[in-house]
Amino acid sequence: MSTVNRIGILGGRFDPIHLGHLGIAEIARRALALDRVLLMPSRISPHRTAPARATDGDRLAMAALAARADACLSPCDLELTSDAPSYTSVTLGRLRDRGHRCTQLFFIVGADAFAEIATWHEYPTVLDGAHFVVVSRPGHPVADIVARLPDLRDRMRRIADDSDVGTVDADSVPAVFLIDAATPDISSTDIRARVARGAPLAGLVPANVAAYITHHRLYEMRSGKQHA
Ligand code: ATP
Ligand code: MG
Repeated sequence: MSTVNRIGILGGRFDPIHLGHLGIAEIARRALALDRVLLMPSRISPHRTAPARATDGDRLAMAALAARADACLSPCDLELTSDAPSYTSVTLGRLRDRGHRCTQLFFIVGADAFAEIATWHEYPTVLDGAHFVVVSRPGHPVADIVARLPDLRDRMRRIADDSDVGTVDADSVPAVFLIDAATPDISSTDIRARVARGAPLAGLVPANVAAYITHHRLYEMRSGKQHA
């Protein structure tokens, strides 16, 4: 059994990881007193058709560089080392197999992604595998989630960005925590487009990630080291 009590998991393409990702990781960590947040690049997203632009190795390397920003962050290759598609239900099952209770696991997700939860593999039982922490994204307030997913209202709990962590009970049944917070208006899609036209990345990705992108010539129009 792990000695870490509360583990956050932030999954994503991270193509590349950016300050919006680190922002929601930090918001969830503070609001729910998480001991650690795993930055977990997904291998094959079942929700997308296009492959990642950067390789698995590059996306993991950038997650590792970004994790240096905070001692609570760790890169995690759990999905990259699996042959199966990156289904959240399977990933959470593997973490539980390692000894973590479902109420120790907090799957962090932006409101844009959670809006599609009904299309996820093993919905709705996937929601019993962990707490879900849904954080607003520019243009995606959590109120939209409440309106869109009325069947989940009984398990939804809105918490304030600056809530007193001692007041949030997360030890009984898995819940869907909803947090409205000021997250930066950053997306990987925009970052890739910026690199392709030679625009700077200052303020969008950590400096060490920007240096990695430049050094490895990721996302350039005619770079060879990418899939598409
Ligand atoms: P892309 O543009 O390629 O879709 P992205 O910036 O949306 O990339 P993802 O890897 O798709 O990043 O997102 C991983 C997770 O991080 C998702 O749960 C997503 O909702 C969340 N997320 C990404 N960017 C932000 C942001 N700026 N604010 C809040 N949440 C975000
Ligand atoms: Mg996205």
